[in-house]
Amino acid sequence: MTQPRTRVAVVTGAARGIGAAIAERLAADGFAVAVLDLDESTCKPVVERIEAAGGTALAIGADVCDEQAVAAAVARVAENLGTPAVLVNNAGVLRDNLLFKMSAADWDMVMDVHLRGSFLMSRAAQAYMTEAGWGRIINLSSESALGNRGQANYAAAKAGLQGFTKTLAIELGKFGVTVNAVAPGFIATDMTAETAQRIGMSFDAFKEMVAQQSPVQRIGEPADVAAAVSFFAREDASFVNGQVLYVAGGPKG
Ligand code: NAD
Repeated sequence: MTQPRTRVAVVTGAARGIGAAIAERLAADGFAVAVLDLDESTCKPVVERIEAAGGTALAIGADVCDEQAVAAAVARVAENLGTPAVLVNNAGVLRDNLLFKMSAADWDMVMDVHLRGSFLMSRAAQAYMTEAGWGRIINLSSESALGNRGQANYAAAKAGLQGFTKTLAIELGKFGVTVNAVAPGFIATDMTAETAQRIGMSFDAFKEMVAQQSPVQRIGEPADVAAAVSFFAREDASFVNGQVLYVAGGPKG
């Protein structure tokens, strides 16, 4: 197996939350990291933290739903940082509602960011990975893929990402590219803080309630997800392909 000279990782939705933790973890693992989010300026603090810790990073502004922007962003990564070897499709949004109240726009938005975004980013990045004969694509699914009240759009998208993961694993394995998914349970981020607000609970009370229901008696942190992503990105994880790893404090799936 050929190891590319420069190992570069691209993390989408990396300006905050789980994506920022993944970017910082991969940088600590020795990757140069493209920190990609909608607005380049919001990526700068993550880049600065990586650089302060002795790593290499680049801020990239792009909407993962925009075909032209994705092509330009991945080309910019290749030119300025090196050929992408690892892609983490982490960018995500929630537009929760019960089915009878869910708008078509909210359905489309969630499908676009999670599915179209992961498709466009993966298609652009795999060109470099297959050429190098080495690559890792890691998709962010969710325990909501198993069904969750008020999340018909999100659950469908996150279940869709599992089928997407398994199919890419079959297609790209022979090029030295593995494709796996991490499916987190409740992780404390702005996304779950917004969920607490929507259901009228304080974030602290919400976290406490979720922790009590968990076998490990705690909520998840972004670093818990980053550790699983780090494993899939490793050289010696090359025989692990097409898997969905639930990082949820208990058995799922
Ligand atoms: P978050 O809302 O804190 O961060 C998501 C990031 O994605 C934001 O920085 C946002 O700007 C970016 N983003 C959104 N749309 C984008 C687009 N079109 N192009 C580029 N960037 C875009 O969310 P988080 O909690 O850190 O979640 C990260 C991922 O993990 C998501 O895919 C989410 O669905 C998944 N996830 C989260 C949890 C959880 O409990 N927090 C659980 C399971 C799965």
